[in-house]
This record gives sequence, structure tokens and C-alpha cells, in this order.
Amino acid sequence: MGPDKRMDMTYWNPIIETLPTEKLHTLQVRKFRRIFEWAYRNSKFHRKLYQEAGIVPEDLRAFEEIRKVPRVEKAMIQKMQEQGPFPYGEGLCVPLSRVTEYRQTSGTTGRAVYQADTWQDWEWWSECWSYILHAHGYRDTDRVFIPFGYNVFVAFWAGHYAAEKLGCEVIPGGVLNTEARILKIQELKATAMMATPTYVLGMADVAKKKLSMNPAKDLSMRKITCAGEPGASISSTKRRMEEAWGAKVYDHVGATEVGAWAYECQAQSGLHVNEAFFLVEIEDPETGEIVEEPDRVGKVIITAFDRMAQPCIRFDTKDLTAWTQEGCECGRTFRKCGGIIGRADDITKVKGVLLAPTAIEEVVRSMEELGDEYEVVVSKRGDIDDILLRVEVLPNLGGEQEAILSRLKDQLRLKTNLGYRIEVHPYGSLPRYEVKARRFKDLRKQEK
Ligand SMILES: [Zn+2]
Repeated sequence: MGPDKRMDMTYWNPIIETLPTEKLHTLQVRKFRRIFEWAYRNSKFHRKLYQEAGIVPEDLRAFEEIRKVPRVEKAMIQKMQEQGPFPYGEGLCVPLSRVTEYRQTSGTTGRAVYQADTWQDWEWWSECWSYILHAHGYRDTDRVFIPFGYNVFVAFWAGHYAAEKLGCEVIPGGVLNTEARILKIQELKATAMMATPTYVLGMADVAKKKLSMNPAKDLSMRKITCAGEPGASISSTKRRMEEAWGAKVYDHVGATEVGAWAYECQAQSGLHVNEAFFLVEIEDPETGEIVEEPDRVGKVIITAFDRMAQPCIRFDTKDLTAWTQEGCECGRTFRKCGGIIGRADDITKVKGVLLAPTAIEEVVRSMEELGDEYEVVVSKRGDIDDILLRVEVLPNLGGEQEAILSRLKDQLRLKTNLGYRIEVHPYGSLPRYEVKARRFKDLRKQEK
């Protein structure tokens, strides 16, 4: 490696991000064994799990052997923490005195998971985010506005620290309301921000309606880093955000129990998995097979190699994605996957057809005549599954409504192979969400 590569500003870590696959795998096996051994020695929860499966650290010598290690699911962690000791249960690998950070999951599926991190883990979090922000073009000349409620959820906390690490000027947009945040962005001429797609669109809406402002013209936002929802990887939603703000929109994926594990580069043709810090496996949800070929959708199973307090080893995220074709024009050797297309629990069969909510969003947001908001309700009418789609048609298009709806139906049929009942609601009347939206409701599950 010549000095040129080290000076290349494309990468946060030019050596690691361009490591040949073979070397990357060697590094991954070594790191996997190290975290496995750490958990085996220090966590009663993990030791019991591995003893029952008959696996000891010495068994892990080759890449393929990693697959023998049992997976951990959220329900197992919830149960383990419920049994105590309070608050983190027997999975904690360090004395409580070394824990410096408390975060938790939202608890939408059962009891919230408490997440412990040491100061070392916290630095690791911000290092993960440094790869992301650097790839999104954040530099020391940026003034970064972070509009989220700094609270018990991990959200953009580590993004805040990483932006500082990169030398950016960071403005915490904590308890301000949306209007005050927009005015602050304008006053300070912020150039970058991090938010969920729902909030990015919501802010633009508030700017237009309440402040008579056009963010694309009146603000100086140049890049936006999204998280928490798949929107930035759904081309029509991404386009709406970019047009509203006059900024580039980038995606990344992370989770409280895992870390920030994948990010888009400037080529924007998928998300690079940070393979120096994570092992990502994609598993066929029906056969349990590990998927290697591109475009075959499966569940994401993740190991975080360097997180010490509460290790994440072969954690079943239940998020669905697929590998993309190998290689990237940015030169990174890290493997790429597509955006998260949904949760394994959400992707249900409707009328015998697999339906991903992101496919509906893609269609709705691709039609300029429709508003940003929509709602999908799946229910049973007698024995037959029924999909109701509620949309808003933009004002002054009442006359064309029939033509618009017929085009919408055709597109939905083409993209999802299903028929829908469509209801048109007055513009602005569907529920607006502040941070993360819940636009997909499956009433068949609640009826059980
Ligand atoms: Zn790339």
C-alpha cells in the first residue's frame, strides 16, 4: 500500500475499508472467537446457551464453524433480564461499576430491553458512526444539526459523538419543537442533519405550512443522514426528501442491541456492512439456510465483535434484506446489502402472496399527485383477506381523482401482485407521525 491510499479522503479508515475479502474473513474469525470466548467466560447466560449446544471457544477455527453457534433472539434477552439480577440480567459481562451508559429499546414488542455499555463500548459506538458520517461526506467544515429528543433511546446519540470526532461543529437540537428547530437551522446555516425519514418529511411540511419557507431554497442543508426507518433506501421516498430539502439523503442501519452496522457510500448502490466491526449473515427464514447469493431475501443475523458489556453474538434482528452484487465503485471491499425491506414479523402473507410494506410505500410516494402520508390496514372480510389503502390526493386535483386512483391501482398490482381497496382522505387528514411512523396495521394478528 502506497502513501497515496492513506491520504485518500474517500475513507475513514483506508486500510480496513479496502482490505481484501480473504484477509477480512481471517480478521472476522479471530474477532468472532475473541468475543465468543469473552462471553463464554463472563456471562452465565451465554455460557449456559453454548454448553447446551456443546460448543467451546476452541471449536471456532474456520469461518464456516461460526454457523454452529446458537442464535440469540430478543425474547431470550427479555426473559434473561426479567429473571435478574436487575437491571441487565446474567448476560452482563462486566461489573456494574464499569457500566457508564444506559439505553433501552422502545418495547413495541414486549418488555423493553435494557442495554448496558461501558465507556469503551461508547467509544466503539462513535467509531462505528465515524465510518458512516465520513462516507456520507461529513467533514470538519460541516455544521451539523441533530433534531432528536436526547433521551433513553439510542437513536442519534452516537452520531452526535462521531460528528464531534470528525471535527464537525455539532448543534444539539434536543427539546426544541419542530418550528424552533427549523429556525435554528436557518439562523446557524446548518449544512447537515440526522433524522428519521418520517421526521425529515414532517419538518419540510412544517417549514412550508407554518413558516412559509421552502427548505430547498431558504436553508443551506446539503446532506441528511437517515436511520430508524427504511425510507432513505426507498427510491421514491428518498426523492421526496431530497427535493424538499435540496440536499443529498443517505441511509444507514443500526439497532440498540447491535450497533450501527451498515452505511451508504457516495455511489449509493446499497449499504456497505462494516465488516471490520460486524459479522452479518443473511438467513432464509423458511429453511434456516445461510444465503450467499445476491437478491435472495432473508433475515439479518448479526455479531458485534467489539461490544463488551452486553455482547451481541449471532443476534437474530428479524430485519429482512438481501445481498447486492459484489463490488462498488467507491473501492470499499465491505459487502453490500439493500435497505431493510421490513421485519420478518410484518411480512405476512396476504391472499397467499408475500407482502412487504415498503413496496406499497415505493408506489404511493412515486406518484406526485399523492401526499406523503398513507395507511395500510389488512383485515379479514369473511374468509378473505382485505387490504385497505388510505391515501391523500393533493388539493386542486379533485377532477383528476379517478384517473389518479386507477393508475395507483395498476401500479400496486404490478409491484405487489395484489388488489387493494383505496380510500381517498382530504389532504392533511391522515395521522402525522413525529419520529417513527406506524403506517401498516395487520388486524388479523390482533384478532387471534
Ligand atoms: Zn461503495
